[in-house]
This record gives sequence, structure tokens and C-alpha cells, in this order.
Amino acid sequence: MLADKDRIFTNLYGFQPWNLKSAQARGDWDKTKDLMSRGQDAIIEEIKASGLRGRGGAGFPTGLKWSFMPKEPRADRPSFLVINADESEPGSCKDREIIRHDPHKLIEGALIAGYAMRARAAYIYIRGEFIREAETLFAAVQEAYDAGLLGKNAAKSGYDFDVFVHRGAGAYICGEETAMIESLEGKKGQPRLKPPFPAGAGLYGCPTTVNNVESIAVVPTILRRGAVWFSSFGRENNKGTKLFQISGHVNKPCVVEEEMGITFRELIDTHCGGIRGGWDNLLAVIPGGSSVPLVPAAQIMDAPMDFDGLKDLGSGLGTAAAIVMDKSTDVVQAISRISYFYKHESCGQCTPCREGTGWMWRVMERLRTGDADISEIDTLFDVTKQVEGHTICALGDAAAWPIQGLIRHFRPEIERRIRENGGALEAAE
Ligand code: SF4
Repeated sequence: MLADKDRIFTNLYGFQPWNLKSAQARGDWDKTKDLMSRGQDAIIEEIKASGLRGRGGAGFPTGLKWSFMPKEPRADRPSFLVINADESEPGSCKDREIIRHDPHKLIEGALIAGYAMRARAAYIYIRGEFIREAETLFAAVQEAYDAGLLGKNAAKSGYDFDVFVHRGAGAYICGEETAMIESLEGKKGQPRLKPPFPAGAGLYGCPTTVNNVESIAVVPTILRRGAVWFSSFGRENNKGTKLFQISGHVNKPCVVEEEMGITFRELIDTHCGGIRGGWDNLLAVIPGGSSVPLVPAAQIMDAPMDFDGLKDLGSGLGTAAAIVMDKSTDVVQAISRISYFYKHESCGQCTPCREGTGWMWRVMERLRTGDADISEIDTLFDVTKQVEGHTICALGDAAAWPIQGLIRHFRPEIERRIRENGGALEAAE
């Protein structure tokens, strides 16, 4: 279990005020100027050495991503940092806790990360439904300006840096980095074809890096305590501490900071009071937010909760949002509901996603009621493979993977429903 002294987010539960004075008492904004005076390349190297991988789901190495930004931005083509606070993935609820209770960690991180990648400003794109969180963030940014920590000569570093907060309007797809950029530009939030990647042509056609809230908020602490400290947690290639979010059928759902690679069992027993009805009552877990395939109980119980550990199980860490399902769950209905979500959130640009998500949901609904033929299970699986990897953005994959996980692990349950609904199995045979 992670010791309290090693927690980055010391006000995750809001036991203390979020404001600047309290944040400074917790160590935020302490000698920020000195951290910046190490130099831009040195900061990027330190973040690379820490092993930090993006906390928004994809897990791309953060320092490496920053190094793609131009070393000498042109005056007419400034660089930008965009911070993804859209957090729309079902099950995910960590960034909002940071913004509610520890916004200055994010704002200080924005200054340091923005400086390291030679950005002129940061745009924090916050999910529209986060009304109180946005109010806190606006107020915290204003506090930072009033204290001289942002704006001209930010934190007396000699570097000019602005932070803008932009509220979204509630579309899941705006969490995709290029759709977010489109939305920031005032357009419809639809993903762009890549390349060009944002580091080459992003916001307003300028070099841009898009990072998740948690990835940016941990940066000041990593620099203060050192890459060696951060990388002492977790396994090779899966370093550091991480906010886990556990919802569903546990006794005490929570958001908690833990060491990467903690086993699922230890995470649940230590922080969530165990599985509802005991471990024998566990059916399956969606370990990384609704877009990753579910993992059956027997496989997940002692699995390490990190990028590689969950990849080995055919799933993913995603945002580390574990949705726990006990044996009272109608697992086919649960996945069908997720299919409906992706159908609803498809932006409609590409045919496999626009048509495929609706088609997959309709078949899922028939599998739920058993009003189907056994052969349709294979047809559905085949269609998920035709959607996966054939779309502009990852929403197509996100719609396909939960269904693939269901068919892979719970095929007998689907067949049972069809059989009980009228012997379609016999008809197929
Ligand atoms: Fe839009 Fe879906 Fe294509 Fe993504 S995959 S660009 S959400 S239609």
C-alpha cells in the first residue's frame, strides 16, 4: 500500500480548502521559479526519466510527447498546451477530484509543462457538465494571476504564460485530442485525420500538445521529489503512482492514489472494503473505463493493475477506472448499454463507426433478449473486427472492444438466452 508520505494528491478528498493559501501550505507553488530555472530540456529529460506515461488512457510517454514540440517556436506560430479535462469516459472520475480539491497542482503543472515545451499558453478544456468544478478552476486561475504566478513574468521566472479555461458542451468525442482542438477553435467537435499530428499542426494550425489533467498535475511533484523517487513505484515500463477509480459492486466505491501495479485484490480489499458479497460473488471487471474489454473474475483477481498487466489479459488500464460487476449483473445488458452509449456519441464522420455502432447495438439488444440466432454471435464479432482499426479516431475501437470481450468470455451465457428463447440453437444446427 502506498504510504501517505508518498502521495502526490494530498487533498484528494477535500478535507482542506482548495484555495491558493492552503495549496501553498501543502507545498504547491514552492520555488516554482527554481524548478523552471533548471531549463526546458532538463525538465523534459527529468519527466522522461521518471517513466511517466499519459494518464488519459493511451499511456504514451509524457516526456517524449513534449520533446516533439519545436525547440524554437516562430513568433507568428506560437506553441500551445491543451489540457484535457473532458473526462467523459463512463467510470472515470479522477480529474474532477483534482480540479475540485487540488486545482493549483494542475495550474502550476500547466506553467511548468508549458514552459518546458516552450508554449505560449495553456487551454484547459473542461467538460461542460462539471459546473462547480469549472467555477473552482476559474477562481483558482484568477488567484494565480492575482498572485503573479501566471501572466507576464509568471512566478518571477521571466517567462510569460497564460492559462485559459474553456468549457465544453457535453460531447464525449471532444475528449479525443483533435476533436477537442476543433471544439476550442469554435467548430463542431469532430476528430481530424492524422497526420498531421497536433505537435506539427494543432490548435489554430500551431504546434500543440494535448495532455490529460492528471499527467500535468503530477509534474511539479515529480520535479520536486525527483524522477528516481517517482520511478521507484511500479514495474518496469509502468512507473509511478496513479489515481484509481473504483465503482460498481464493491462495499466502498472510491477514488484513491496507489502504486502502479498494485494487484486488483489488494486495491479492492485495502480501499473498497472488498467485493459486495465476497470474492466468490465477483463476476467480471471492466478495468479501465467503459471502452476496454471486460475481464472475468478468475483472471483479474490477482492481476497487476498497470498498462502491461492488463494488456496481457486482453484488456487495458485506460484511465484506471475499474467498474466492478458481481454475479447479480446482467452482463449482456451491461455491455449492450455501453454499446448504446458509443452509438449515441459517434460523431458520424466515418461509415464503419456511424453505421456500425448502431448496428452493433441493435444486435446486442437482440442478444440480450435472446431474440437472435446463434450464428449471429459470430457475425457480430466479425463486424466488430471490421469497425476496429478502420475509423478516423478510437471511438470505433471503443465501441468494438467491449463486445469482443463479452463474446470472448461470456459466449455460453449469450447462447443460453437464445436457446431459452425458442431453440434457435437447434435451428442453427
Ligand atoms: Fe467520428 Fe466515430 Fe469516425 Fe471517430 S470513429 S471520427 S467518432 S465517426
